[in-house]
Amino acid sequence: MRYIDHHAHMVSRTTDDYQQMALTGCVAVTEPAFWAGWDRSAADGFEDYFRQLTEFEPNRAAQYRIQHYAWMAMNPKESENRELSRKVIERIPKFLGRPTVLGIGEIGLNRVTRNEVATYTEQVELALEHRQLILIHTPHLEDKLKGTRISIDVLRKYSKIQPGRVLVDHAEEHTIEMILEHGYWAGLTLYPNTKVSPQRAADIIEQFGAERICIAGACDWGPSDPIAVPRFIAEMRRRRHPDALIHRIVFENPVQFLSQSPKFKVRADVVNEIAPATVAR
Ligand SMILES: [Zn+2]
Repeated sequence: MRYIDHHAHMVSRTTDDYQQMALTGCVAVTEPAFWAGWDRSAADGFEDYFRQLTEFEPNRAAQYRIQHYAWMAMNPKESENRELSRKVIERIPKFLGRPTVLGIGEIGLNRVTRNEVATYTEQVELALEHRQLILIHTPHLEDKLKGTRISIDVLRKYSKIQPGRVLVDHAEEHTIEMILEHGYWAGLTLYPNTKVSPQRAADIIEQFGAERICIAGACDWGPSDPIAVPRFIAEMRRRRHPDALIHRIVFENPVQFLSQSPKFKVRADVVNEIAPATVAR
């Protein structure tokens, strides 16, 4: 089954992973800017990273017939450094016009500090100013509930924000309701050990339905699984959910959200190939 992974940190992945994703049906990935696992020393380091995301990585992905898009941001972890954040944010606008950049992300909170909230708020305003889609990271473990709530509170202060143009990611059982009820999209990122498993994601779909929910593998530099989405597909099939429903979640939903950026276009051969499945629904 063809799928799109809307949250994949491919810069920390090998070509074997691209190959595995291509072999399991991945046709497109979108890669949010994030923390590299270590703090960068200067804004130049971020600029090089943004160039990697917009110049090098799309070509690497194309060798496996995977389309690659990116999001620009100062990530939540390094957002704590206000001085560095201001310098990085100044450099973001010049990347927003690039052909594969879909919006601002992943922005949000890590430890839910005053500095992080300030940097996050500035980037929400940046997205509004440049009419960009927004991808939000929510904190992990004990900070998730509070962090998700505060992230949403900030968004709700801006009446100009259209909730349907915002995806709040790393949702879990206890946060998905507050994300969906305000009209935002919710992302479930699947991990082998921590966070949401393919089984829990299937439970969540059974409980909350498929509307405005996207599934991703995250694939970052830590323990993570580049083919987590196919594992979710397998779990849904094991539970005898129809392929049309699964296709909607792993393909049509991300297309619907991402296509709000005029730059996002699924390759014509992929559209033609999956057309029968879409018609069958
Ligand atoms: Zn991420």
